Amino acid sequence: MKNITAITISIGDELLSGRTLDSNNAFISRQLDLIGISVVKKMIIGDIAQDIKDSLDWAFSQADVVTLTGGLGPTHDDITKSVLCEYFDVRLKLYPELLEALKDRFAKRGFQFSESNTSQAEYPENAALLENPFGTAQGMHIQHEGKHLFVMAGVPREMQIVTTDQIIPLLSKIAHKSISIIDIHSIGVPESTLYELTKPVLDEYPDLKIAYLPKQGMVTIRVSFPSSSPDEEQKFTTELYGKIHDLKPKNIYGRDEEVLPVLIGKLLKAKQATVATAESCTGGLVASLITDISGSSEYFQTGFVTYANETKMSLLGVAEQILVDYGAVSEETVAEMLNGTLQKSGADYAIAISGVAGPTGGSEEKPVGTVYIGVANNAHQNIKRFQFGKNRILNKEMSAFSALNLLRLLIEKDV
Ligand code: AMP
Ligand code: MG
Repeated sequence: MKNITAITISIGDELLSGRTLDSNNAFISRQLDLIGISVVKKMIIGDIAQDIKDSLDWAFSQADVVTLTGGLGPTHDDITKSVLCEYFDVRLKLYPELLEALKDRFAKRGFQFSESNTSQAEYPENAALLENPFGTAQGMHIQHEGKHLFVMAGVPREMQIVTTDQIIPLLSKIAHKSISIIDIHSIGVPESTLYELTKPVLDEYPDLKIAYLPKQGMVTIRVSFPSSSPDEEQKFTTELYGKIHDLKPKNIYGRDEEVLPVLIGKLLKAKQATVATAESCTGGLVASLITDISGSSEYFQTGFVTYANETKMSLLGVAEQILVDYGAVSEETVAEMLNGTLQKSGADYAIAISGVAGPTGGSEEKPVGTVYIGVANNAHQNIKRFQFGKNRILNKEMSAFSALNLLRLLIEKDV
């Protein structure tokens, strides 16, 4: 069976100059990939009529599906519709019901309706409209010599809803191959190491498409495979996840929506246990990640952000002598923070973090990126020294997620 291919085109001078980052092409590619349509090329072009036409010629010659975003607003630089009319040699068609809706919308907001806005109710006559619930520029589907062209507004939110609610359902009917996906999450293993480690297992299965997706110092392995019955898929993904997880159970921790904050929630709920945090260099990020999950009030007790030494002492009862002897960034301080957190909060589990986020403030003994992360309950305490890099934000993120992973390991050990 022939593979269906696609080319995505983004239009906008601001994308070329780099003032706006092109996120639309990436979003559309991911969505198409899910239904087994491969994006073979992507383009970014300026608001220039001839360039749009040339790109369409070229894209139609190379792929079955072409998407075009941008240039649909009412301003002078938004020329997509008139270019489409010239390209296909068709005229604009006025949709009276859209015009009425537009006038209503303006009136309700107390704005004057100007003639330039009429264009928002006009579309090339060969286009079928795709409803855009978030804006006035509707999406378009144009069939051309057996190929499909989809045109959308550039505003990411509008482009996204038209893609997921209109285009993907339409295309999944013609994409004969239906694809399923399993995401396998890891933390603390470099992408290349993970690749070497998992290759022998993944090579056992034909027909798999593998992508390694690094984010915030963590890597997700995305495995796509031809869909089958729900039972067979369940069996296959359980087996595959089991094999991959067993390669490095401390680091390969969950699948699909089970990212660390979600997993922590599940584990704590299952034990009817609570957690509290004491954070220095992460400034509350761990508490924030935990509380990103709806229902976290069931298990999140409290969070101390003890950035200054004084508050490590006054809020958590860290002994001054410990801070003097070992410094705030030390195993000893984190141990005291853990004890203080368990005592003051009454929670079952505690997380504590102290480190040098950087880019300044490092020493020879404790360079930038040195972070002590500890987890504890009343029976166990586990504190580890991590050495991250020089980027402050990344260091905070990696510290926070590493803390959640240590907590996961402690809870699992307890079960
Ligand atoms: P337009 O449809 O060209 O009027 O674009 C509307 C808004 O969406 C503008 O703020 C653009 O900068 C933004 N935009 C257009 N194309 C993209 C894209 N490919 N990625 C991200 N933002 C975009
Ligand atoms: Mg534009």
